[in-house]
Amino acid sequence: MSYNLVWFKRDLRVHDHAPLLNAGRNAPVLCLFIIEPSLWAAADAATQHYQFLRESLLDLDAALRKRGGGLRIEVGEAVAVLQRLWQEAPFLAVYSHQETGNWLSFQRDLAVRGWCRERGLHWQEFAQFGVVRRLRDRDAWKAHWEALMAEPCLEPPVCDWIAVPKLPILPEPHTLGLIHPDPPQRQIGGRRQGIETLRDFLFDRCGAYRGSISSPLSAPTACSRLSAYLAFGCLSLREVVQATRRQLAALPRGDARRAGLTAFISRLYWHCHFMQKLESEPELEFTNLHRGYDGLREADWNPAHFQALSAGQTGWPLVDACVAMLQQTGWLNFRMRAMLVSVASYPLWLHWQPVGTWLARQFLDYEPGIHWSQMQMQAGTTGINTTRVYNPIKQARDHDPHGHFVRHWLPALRRVPQEWLFEPWRMPVKLQQQCGVSVGVDIAEPPVDLERATRQAKARLYQLRGRADVKVAKAAIVEKHGSRKQPIRRKTKIAVGDWVQTQFEF
Ligand SMILES: Cc1cc2nc3c(=O)[nH]c(=O)nc-3n(C[C@H](O)[C@H](O)[C@H](O)COP(=O)(O)OP(=O)(O)OC[C@H]3O[C@@H](n4cnc5c(N)ncnc54)[C@H](O)[C@@H]3O)c2cc1C
Repeated sequence: MSYNLVWFKRDLRVHDHAPLLNAGRNAPVLCLFIIEPSLWAAADAATQHYQFLRESLLDLDAALRKRGGGLRIEVGEAVAVLQRLWQEAPFLAVYSHQETGNWLSFQRDLAVRGWCRERGLHWQEFAQFGVVRRLRDRDAWKAHWEALMAEPCLEPPVCDWIAVPKLPILPEPHTLGLIHPDPPQRQIGGRRQGIETLRDFLFDRCGAYRGSISSPLSAPTACSRLSAYLAFGCLSLREVVQATRRQLAALPRGDARRAGLTAFISRLYWHCHFMQKLESEPELEFTNLHRGYDGLREADWNPAHFQALSAGQTGWPLVDACVAMLQQTGWLNFRMRAMLVSVASYPLWLHWQPVGTWLARQFLDYEPGIHWSQMQMQAGTTGINTTRVYNPIKQARDHDPHGHFVRHWLPALRRVPQEWLFEPWRMPVKLQQQCGVSVGVDIAEPPVDLERATRQAKARLYQLRGRADVKVAKAAIVEKHGSRKQPIRRKTKIAVGDWVQTQFEF
């Protein structure tokens, strides 16, 4: 009996899953996930991504089995695996979600497209985010996002399934070349965990969203913490948007959570806005969005500066504490991510690409479209965004005024008096002895003078920005990638009603 193949990628759920629903309409369904060694060998892949994936796959398999199906997992390159399955028993068509992934997954998709074409096989891809393939006009983009988010979420299909034996033992990370440590306090994968996180945020934690997401102290609980569940598709963006809007409508006026949820929805919109940039221009993983910035930092790569940053040994306590937190949890809030990139790009004058590859491995929620767009934005190479330079000492004073965050993640500094905590290299030697902290041993000596190096960096950037040819090229980038400010006219009404527990199933 012939069948349809559903190829799961970063969409690890059965709910609101258009490929699954459509594949089940006219034939039995075989659900497939491919562990692709070449993608896991890439420089942006990390053990934590793989472990989160494994947890999510187990969850997905359980959800499929509950409905009579199961997940077939194969290890190999996509075309070779498809060929193998095809030889075992030819399938009618392939169904999957579109992926706006890294360069390798883009090339893989081209190869799969070619393989399907050779066989006259239909490969139907569905959008899972508000990202438009072959987008011609950015002006209509917001309306498109709204329309997609307003469509009803899809129920899992009731269909015939191709039987799949029990899940095989999945390869251990090291067999795929993944050697980086798995952060011991990272979030756990799977839809079940994603739903719990969403529920907890919508009903409770969102009250602190406005006003508490910038400080690294309050952000871990004030932020939604949904990024990894969205990146691996354990939750669909649409179900998160709709659940948030329902909860907003149900909350009384004056409830502090309303402001939080409104601000949160704007981030869900940004999610797709940034991904669209990589979808429209996959090269921005490697090349400056504004080519006039080519050569700005590339040739000045300083390995000692990069080593200090990536080891959390810059001597700027807030920076080092953020790196320590990342190593333990795989997560940081937006402002601290932006600050790390700012420190890398300005005083340390490091090219964003290798820094971004390192950070991609540190972030559990690595989403190439958001990540590379943000890397370039914070490094000042998009040519269309305001230059934001974050001073790590000022950030520490503003967002960790009592030093709790720095002392937590850098225990060696616990006894440093508050007055010196954010600039320990200025501490007199006698005081260092008194509090048992030695600069150069317990905390590094900063590799550059922060103020001077930042001033020089800004001057270099502004000099380039002022060039006539650089100014001219800016207009085309705004046209292609810039956000549009005009308000959105919504065609569809937002559903109002209580957001009930039964809304989400596993
Ligand atoms: C250099 C840099 C790299 C980043 N890399 C990633 C990445 O790889 N993956 C990722 O999901 N986010 C990335 N971000 C954006 C942001 O920092 C994270 O989305 C956020 O910290 C995740 O935590 P949260 O889910 O609790 O966020 P919340 O504040 O609760 O936001 C909810 C969701 O909105 C989206 N979102 C939030 N902020 C942004 C933003 N500024 N741009 C685009 N989408 C946003 C995310 O999907 C997030 O899960 C990056 C930011 C910077 C500065």
